[in-house]
Amino acid sequence: MTILYVHRVVPDPCGIQAVGPDRCNAISLGAFEELLEHLGNCLCDWRTVLDGMHGARPDAARVGLTFDDAYADFEDVALPVLERHGIRVLLFVTSMFAEQALVPYEYAIAELARRCPDVLLPREFETCGEVEGAHERYRCIVGRMKRMRPRTRARFVRDLLNLNGVAEQQMTTPRMLSWPRLKHLVDHPLVDIGVHTATHPYLPALNAREAWMEIAGAKRAVERRLGRTSTCFAYPYGANGRRDRWLARMAGFENAFSTSPNSKGRMAIGRIDVRDWIGGARRGG
Ligand SMILES: [Zn+2]
Repeated sequence: MTILYVHRVVPDPCGIQAVGPDRCNAISLGAFEELLEHLGNCLCDWRTVLDGMHGARPDAARVGLTFDDAYADFEDVALPVLERHGIRVLLFVTSMFAEQALVPYEYAIAELARRCPDVLLPREFETCGEVEGAHERYRCIVGRMKRMRPRTRARFVRDLLNLNGVAEQQMTTPRMLSWPRLKHLVDHPLVDIGVHTATHPYLPALNAREAWMEIAGAKRAVERRLGRTSTCFAYPYGANGRRDRWLARMAGFENAFSTSPNSKGRMAIGRIDVRDWIGGARRGG
C-alpha cells in the first residue's frame, strides 16, 4: 500500500523553474498522465489505501494520491486528469495560502538567487553567498531558514528582498487556491480537504502554543471557511515530533501524514514523493 504526495503539476515541463522549489517539487502534466496510465488498476481512492494500510491484509499494489499546499494548478491541471481516471484524492490546505495572505517563501528566495548572483546576505548566511550555482545558493539559504518562526521568516524575506532591491511585485510566485475556489472544490466528488497548518512552519521548531495555533487554529479556519469537518492533517516538510503528533490528535485529527516512507501509525502515516516514485518506476524499481 502506498500513498504518494504531489506538490505541483505544471502544464509544460518548460514551466518548471530551474532554480527553486519547482525543481524539487513540480512534475509536468505529461509525467503525471504517464504515471496514472502506468498505475492503471493499482490506482485507488486514497481512503481505500489508508484503510488497507491499517487493515489485517493490506494489498501491497494499491496506490493513493494526496496533494500538498493547494496550488492553483491542482484544480487547473491535475484535476481534469483525475476526473478522467475517476480517482478520489486528498488535498492539503495551508490556511494563510488560501487566505492569499502568504505564498511559499521558497519562491521569493529562488527569485533572489536567480536575479542576484552576488546576493547580499546577513552575516550568519554569508557562506551561502559563496556557493556556486543559483539553485545550490537557493538551497543553502532555505535550508538555514527552515527553523525560523513564521513571523521572523516573513520579516527576514521582506528585509532580504529590500536589501537586494527586488520588489515583491517582480516575483513570479505560483498562484494558490483561494477560499472561494476551495469552497467550490469541497463539493467535488473526487476531492477531500485536509489541513496543512496556517503558515507552513517547521513544527518541531515552534513552542507548544505556537504549534497548537498552527495545527488546531488552521483546522478551525479551514472548517469555518469551507463548512466541512476535516479529519486529516499533513505536517509541513513531513516534520513531526511526539509533541506534534499528540497536538494533532488533541486538535481532533484522526489521520496525520508525514513525508517519510517509513513513518508508521495513524498520526504519522508514511508517504512517498511522487517524483521518487516516478524515478523508481523509470529505473524499474
Ligand atoms: Zn507543504
